[in-house]
Amino acid sequence: MKIICIGRNYREHATELKNPVPGEPFFFMKPETALIRAGLPFFYPDFSGKVHYEAELVLRICKLGKHIQARFARNYFKEIGVGIDFTARDIQERCKEKGLPWEAAKAFDGSAPVSKFVPIARFCQSSSISFHLDLNGETVQKGNTGDMIFSFEEIISHVSRYVTLKIGDLIFTGTPSGVGEVKMGDRLEAFLEKEKMLTINIK
Ligand code: MG
Repeated sequence: MKIICIGRNYREHATELKNPVPGEPFFFMKPETALIRAGLPFFYPDFSGKVHYEAELVLRICKLGKHIQARFARNYFKEIGVGIDFTARDIQERCKEKGLPWEAAKAFDGSAPVSKFVPIARFCQSSSISFHLDLNGETVQKGNTGDMIFSFEEIISHVSRYVTLKIGDLIFTGTPSGVGEVKMGDRLEAFLEKEKMLTINIK
């Protein structure tokens, strides 16, 4: 199982971190050891002093595929959930300055809590699914798939040109604006539409 993450898929988030809006999807990966199942805490890592939350919709791949055309991509995911792409922003900033890869900032153990999954058929249109993240009871991020630069189908088509998608792979589809720091003792709650999907305590 692998975790594929799309970067900069919401215009306002790209600009809040002073990044250009990409002309094609951009992705990186996290290993299986990054996954935290729903209900387990996130332990603040000792190597970073600036860990950011990034709430994202997550697709679970249900069919093996390579070179998937966008018009067929819908056959490759049936379920959706919410996850947090935890990012050691201080390390990422140093990596960016030096042009180095991002693994230490993005792929560390526990950096990918993921909720339960629900059928995407529950939503009338995959182009209008909303989600939000609360930090200690206050909403800090709000997203809607209508604001994504690249659709689920375009993401799957793009990624599968490079990487074979296998059953159970997870795709984080990018974060909206409002990313920020977590501290020990914080509580994050992620919602899909109005349903609470995931609670993470920072320890
Ligand atoms: Mg992200």
